[in-house]
Amino acid sequence: MQETLIKPSENSTQPIENNRVIENTPKKYPIKWVTAAFMLIVHLGALAAFFTFSWKALMVCLVLHWITGGVGITLGYHRLLTHRSFKVPKWMEYVFSIIGSLACQSGTIAWVAAHRLHHLKSDEEGDPHSPTKGFFWAHMGWCISKNNEIDDYKRYSKYCPDLANDPIHVFINNSHLLWTFLLAAGLYAWGGWPFVVWGVFLRLVLVYHCTWFVNSAAHIWGYRTYASGDLSTNLWWVALLTYGEGWHNNHHAFQYSARHGLKWWEVDTTYWMIKTLEFLGLAKAVKLPSPQALAQAIR
Ligand SMILES: [Zn+2]
Ligand SMILES: [Zn+2]
Repeated sequence: MQETLIKPSENSTQPIENNRVIENTPKKYPIKWVTAAFMLIVHLGALAAFFTFSWKALMVCLVLHWITGGVGITLGYHRLLTHRSFKVPKWMEYVFSIIGSLACQSGTIAWVAAHRLHHLKSDEEGDPHSPTKGFFWAHMGWCISKNNEIDDYKRYSKYCPDLANDPIHVFINNSHLLWTFLLAAGLYAWGGWPFVVWGVFLRLVLVYHCTWFVNSAAHIWGYRTYASGDLSTNLWWVALLTYGEGWHNNHHAFQYSARHGLKWWEVDTTYWMIKTLEFLGLAKAVKLPSPQALAQAIR
């Protein structure tokens, strides 16, 4: 296969734009059976929620949805570690990385790499999850299919030298499933199987589909305020389900911005969390687009 693969230097912190990687993954992706079986078991396990309801179990599910989906994935994996839209102390980065791991959406480095690749090739050949290949592919098909660019550590780690050169992030990346087993054990000790069903299985399924709607629905339906050069859209119900991530066209237009809801009515609870961290002196260098940048990018 003809390709020019330019590797960024091992210690490089240069953005990957300068090291364009030519797609050489096959057009048809074989199924990752272990991942597919894991997804199936989690979805089947969630059905046990019908037989184990209690108000306490529901609260455990909702609080953990926010902690793992809102704090872990949205604030931690995405806005902090993928886009570096604000800074926190190093120990806090690791805490967010562990909390993000509890969503079982792969280790931090793998997740960040896949997402940086998504921005690098948005809705073009090489985007890991564009709806140009169909809704199901963009929603969940891509993550049960083999794609060496985001499955092979040597290949995907080159998208995140900032994380791959940090031994603690590498450890958290490699041990990402362990944290969920520890959480499940804690929930079992606290409230028995109902807490495990609602706090792990059902909660995982809900967080999965909420996150996946950003990749599928928020690249298909909704409105587009800014010329982002791709299919990303702003979609209110995805924003509500994902703590602000559904303002996805805004995000594609201003990837560095800690704030995704840019109009007063585009509710972005994750930005409120970041502002709270800033107020507490824990978040610094919170990035926002300037009024001029906003005006220039209008479609
Ligand atoms: Zn996107
Ligand atoms: Zn992003």
